[in-house]
Formats: sequence, C-alpha cells, structure tokens
Amino acid sequence: MLVVEDEPRIAAALAEALEGAGYAVDRAADGEQAEFLGATEPYDAIVLDLGLPRLDGMSVLRRWRAAGITTPVLILTARGSWRERVEGIDAGADDYLVKPFAMEELVARVRALLRRAAGRASPVLRHGALELDTRNARLTLDGAPVPLTALEYRILAFLMHHADRVVSQHELTEHVYAQDFERDSNTIEVLIGRLRRKLGRERIVTIRGLGYRLGAPS
Ligand code: CA
Repeated sequence: MLVVEDEPRIAAALAEALEGAGYAVDRAADGEQAEFLGATEPYDAIVLDLGLPRLDGMSVLRRWRAAGITTPVLILTARGSWRERVEGIDAGADDYLVKPFAMEELVARVRALLRRAAGRASPVLRHGALELDTRNARLTLDGAPVPLTALEYRILAFLMHHADRVVSQHELTEHVYAQDFERDSNTIEVLIGRLRRKLGRERIVTIRGLGYRLGAPS
C-alpha cells in the first residue's frame, strides 16, 4: 500500500493505522515521488492526498490513469470542496475521504476498496428485507418491488452502502445533489419521510444531531 501525504504528522498516523490493520505501507511525501512509486511498484491500493508539493495529487492521479495504472486510489480532499471530489472521481479516484477523518474510517474504506478490487463486491446491496440492485436501481422489500424516484434511490443506496455507520444530513445532501444551488437540507428530510412511508418508519432511524442510519435488520 502507498500513502502519499506531505504533512509528516498525518502521514505517520496514516501509516500507523494501515500497518496496524495488517498492510505493508510505503510512503511518499511529494507528487513526483508518488507518481514514480505508483507507476513502478505493484501496490494493492493508494491513499493520495491532493495537496502536495512538486506535483499536485490530481495531476499524479491523471498521469497514473493515462499510463494505464489501475491501482485503486482513495483521495484525501479538503473539507467542503465538493468540486475537488467530483474532479477527483472524474480523474479516476475510486473513493474519497474528506479531511479531517477518523483513522477507523480510512481503514474501513481501504478495506472496502480492496474488496471491490478483488471483484467480490456485489452489485446487489442487501439489508434485512431490503434488496437494492444497483445495476438497474430496482428495490424489493421482502421480495416485492418498491418503485423509487431517482432522488429516493440515491439516498437509499447511499445509506445501504454505508449501513455500518451514521450518515450525516450534510453527506446525503452532497451525495444527492450535484449542484450547490439545488442544495437544501429540508429536501433530504422530505425524501427520508417519503422513503419511510414506502418502507416502514423503522427502516431509517434518525440519530439526533448526527444524521441517519438504516434500522437494524430483523
Ligand atoms: Ca497535503
């Protein structure tokens, strides 16, 4: 695994967390070194900070992808910069994490990245009686189809992808809407309400002050 981060304290914490999770970690502290290592060493995954000296992370990622390097890449982005995330995903990032983040989440994301890369990810998300086929956006509840609007689908898919944790309203807003001007957190509440009417109140739990999570599968 390659960790690209110029801030020594964060780089050390990242390496420690990933090594603690059982991964071998190489480190690069600038974009040029990162580009070289990523292009020459067979890493399972790369954690890439975007703000780097010598060559920025976005350029590094673009160069890797242009060179046919398909190693899964998780980018670390600045808080609140959704443009950077969109740009990063367009440039070929497989996932992103917004700074500051919890190391536990970083490790979980990397694990998921490796799982997906190993081809074990299922396109069908399951949670209790809910089954969501992400290939065609079809949802069934106890085997019976439940029609969803596009926005309802995006919210539910996001919650199901992150079924192991609480998802904040802010995250949902960022995930559901591509443009700043469309964003309105009230809309998320309305959409959650509609999903609850379709699926049953207990399926989406409100965690006061934090956000939402799926109800425990029964
Ligand atoms: Ca940095």
